[in-house]
Amino acid sequence: MKGNTGAAATAPPGGRVLALCGGIGGAKLVLGLDAVLGAGRLTVIVNTGDDFEHLGLHVAPDLDTVLYTLAGLSDPVRGWGRVDESWNFMTALRELGGEAWFALGDRDLAVHIERTRRLRGGETLTSIVADMARRLKVEARIAPMTDDRVRTIVHTPDGPMPFQHYFVKHACTPAVTSISFAGAAEARPSPVFPGAVADPSLLAIVICPSNPYLSVDPILAVPGVREALEHATVPVIAVSPIIGGKAVKGPTAKIMKELGVAATSAAIAEHYHGLIDGLLIDAADAAEANLVDIRVATAPTTLMKSIDDKCKLARIVLDFAGQLANEREPA
Ligand code: GDP
Repeated sequence: MKGNTGAAATAPPGGRVLALCGGIGGAKLVLGLDAVLGAGRLTVIVNTGDDFEHLGLHVAPDLDTVLYTLAGLSDPVRGWGRVDESWNFMTALRELGGEAWFALGDRDLAVHIERTRRLRGGETLTSIVADMARRLKVEARIAPMTDDRVRTIVHTPDGPMPFQHYFVKHACTPAVTSISFAGAAEARPSPVFPGAVADPSLLAIVICPSNPYLSVDPILAVPGVREALEHATVPVIAVSPIIGGKAVKGPTAKIMKELGVAATSAAIAEHYHGLIDGLLIDAADAAEANLVDIRVATAPTTLMKSIDDKCKLARIVLDFAGQLANEREPA
């Protein structure tokens, strides 16, 4: 199928949406989808390949970004961590010569400590995240991709690196030769996932504009997730994280080039080939629509700065999903 869909913005009544997402880029659209859909109609499956054990704590950066964003607690300036944060712990840690390359704010620390305590007590990450979300008054359902241990490994000419060493310690400077997901083959999806995919009121599955290699591929590597998307009876739509040949933020375009892929929205469509029914791209990339053999919709902009931008893009995504669903209906 090929085509180009202009977008009237309407949110369909009722029904649920399932979103797959990483951290900051994905969470922007998640916030818009949650606002447009209204209370309790969104389920978000979040990458945990970035999780790591640090200072004896289980840190889950993408889960926390989504949680803080939906709870209205994320820092709008830094883009990560909590608003109204203080840094007494980090200051004291530095004074002691401790491992200070990964910044943990004081309020953020409470989440890591509580999550680690509960994990050690035998609770699953799925259950802990659901409870934290409820306590922080988030109505969307947030779940990790798995309760099992999956760790993203970035392979570089200098050898393999755990994700956070590549991303934070080395600020994404090493060239990426390949990426693997240790433990993925033995992992099972969070129990939230099969229920969300099979929900008869499901309207669409949305792959957020997250880094396809570092944030979405780990989710798809969990056995059963890719297959569920391939066989979904509702439209599966991805939003391109590339605008005008560049990533809005982070190493997506750099990694694409290092892996020998053009940093284009057409290449994003190729990456998700067989998985998605439609790709939403920025008007800046409209010329690429004809290079892609899936349905493409263009939004006037896919850049989300304000809450209004996020809601507008969410409406366009839902409208696109509605069009694709209508086209599937038997005549
Ligand atoms: P991370 O885990 O914090 O790196 O976040 P994600 O993987 O969820 O998001 C990173 C991706 O989001 C990058 O490829 C960015 O290009 C993309 N991104 C960030 N903001 C926007 C935006 O406003 N619009 C679009 N289309 N992509 C965005």
